[in-house]
Amino acid sequence: MTAWEAVIGLETHVELSTKSKMFCSCPTDFGDEPNTACCPVCLALPGALPVPNEEAIAGIVKIGLALECDINESSLFYRKNYFYPDLPKNYQISQYTFPVCEHGTLDVDVNGEPTVVGITRVHMEEDTGKSSHIGDGGGRIHDARHTLLDFNRAGVPLVEVVTEPDIRSAEQARAYAAELQRIVLSLGVSDARLEAGSMRFDANVSVRPVGETKLGTRTETKNVNSLRSLQRAISFEIDRQIQVLEDGGSIVQETRHWNEDTGATTSMRVKEESEDYRYFQDPDLLPLEVTAAWQDEIRSTITALPAERRVAIIEQGVDRETAVILVDSDELSGLFAAALGDGVPARTVALWLTGDVVAYLRRNEVELSSTGLTSEHLAVLGRMVDSGDLSSSAAKEVLIAVLDGDGGPGEIADDRDLLQVSDTGAIEEAVDAVLADNADALERIRSGDMKPFGFLVGQVMRHMGGKADPSVVRSVLEEKTTDSR
Ligand SMILES: [Zn+2]
Repeated sequence: MTAWEAVIGLETHVELSTKSKMFCSCPTDFGDEPNTACCPVCLALPGALPVPNEEAIAGIVKIGLALECDINESSLFYRKNYFYPDLPKNYQISQYTFPVCEHGTLDVDVNGEPTVVGITRVHMEEDTGKSSHIGDGGGRIHDARHTLLDFNRAGVPLVEVVTEPDIRSAEQARAYAAELQRIVLSLGVSDARLEAGSMRFDANVSVRPVGETKLGTRTETKNVNSLRSLQRAISFEIDRQIQVLEDGGSIVQETRHWNEDTGATTSMRVKEESEDYRYFQDPDLLPLEVTAAWQDEIRSTITALPAERRVAIIEQGVDRETAVILVDSDELSGLFAAALGDGVPARTVALWLTGDVVAYLRRNEVELSSTGLTSEHLAVLGRMVDSGDLSSSAAKEVLIAVLDGDGGPGEIADDRDLLQVSDTGAIEEAVDAVLADNADALERIRSGDMKPFGFLVGQVMRHMGGKADPSVVRSVLEEKTTDSR
C-alpha cells in the first residue's frame, strides 16, 4: 500500500468594496437594474481609456502588507485574452509579471498545529459580468433557451491571492481560507461575503506518494463559495485522485466543478496553460507606481490584525478557541475589551460571552444590541464572582436576567437573594454547628480518613441555605478539623 500526501495551493478572489469600478467611475452596487452601471470604459468600446482606481490600489496594498508581502514600487497591467460571454472586452485587465505584491506568508492553525502558508503573489484584476441562463434547466447552461447578460459587475476591482503549494490537508485549506477572510474583513477592504460571491476560492490539488518531492499532476476546482464546500471539495478530490492512481490510471490536468448537491467534483474543461491567454502588457495603462511613502501611509491605517488580537486575548488566560470566537465578532470582542479591568476575571467573562451570551442570542433570535447587557454589567458581574460574592452558577442566572433587561447584576443578585456569604464569622458558626452534630465524621477525619470531608462541606452549605462561598467553607472546615489534632 502506498501512503499518499496531498499538495494543495489556493487561489482566492476578493472583490474590493470600493465605490467605483477598477478603471472607470461606474458605481459598484451592481444589485441595480441590469446594465445600468456600465460605460464605454468597462464595456471597452473603441477609444475608451482606463484609469486605475486609487482606493482599489490602496486596498490591495493593505492586503499585501497584512500578508507580509513585498510591495513592488512599480507593477504592470496585462491583458489576459480569452472569450467569455460575460467579459465584454474579450480580455481581462490583470497582472502577470510584476504584480503589486509578492512573497508573503500567512500563519494558520489547525487544532493547535501551526503551519506557514507561503503567498506567491497578490495581484489586481477586474471582475466579469454575470450570465443568467433562462430555460427549464434551473439556471444551468445546458438546458437554457437563452442567456441574459448583465455587465454591472464587469470591471469591479478584484484581488487575487495565490498561495504556494504549501497546504497538505483539506482542514488546513479551510483554516487558511477562514483566516484570509478574517484579515480582509478586519482591513475593511471587502465585505468578503462568500454566499454573495465577493470572496471565492479555486483549489489546486494533486497527490503524490509520501517522500516523493516531484509534484503530481494537479486539477483545479473552480469557484467554491463556502468554507465548508472548500473543505469537502478538496477532500473529495484527494480521495478521487488517490483512487485513480491506485487503479493504475493517471490524473488529467483539468478544471473541475464542485457540485454541492452530489458532493463530487466533475470535469469542466481541459485546463489552460498561461501561454494560452496570450498575455501582453496593456498599452493603455502605464506602470503602476506605489511609492515607499504611499506604502507607509497605507501601513499606518492598518489596525491590529486578527492574529495579534487573538494573542493579546490568549495572554489574558483565555483559551485559543474562545479567543477565535471573540475576535471573529466585533461586538463580542468590543464588549470583552471594555469590560476588562481590576478584579475582572478575563477568562470567565470571555466564556460567558462566547457561551451563555451567544446561546441566549440564538435561542431568543435577538441581536446583542437589543439586550440589556453592557460592558459595565460584565465588569461588575466578573468582580462579584472574583470576590466570592456570587457563585459561578448564580452568576450565570444573573447574566441571563441582565440580558432579559431585568436590571444591573447587583440589584438582580440582591432581589433574588443569590449573594454568597463569604463572611468568615457566619461560616465559622455554621461549621461549628455541623461539627457538633457530626462528631463521628470529625473523629474519622482526625484519624486521617478524609472521606467524610465532602459530606461536611455539603452539610455546611445546606446549613447556610446554599449561599456560602464553598472555597471559604472548605478552608474554615479544614482549619477546624485539623486543629487540636
Ligand atoms: Zn464603467
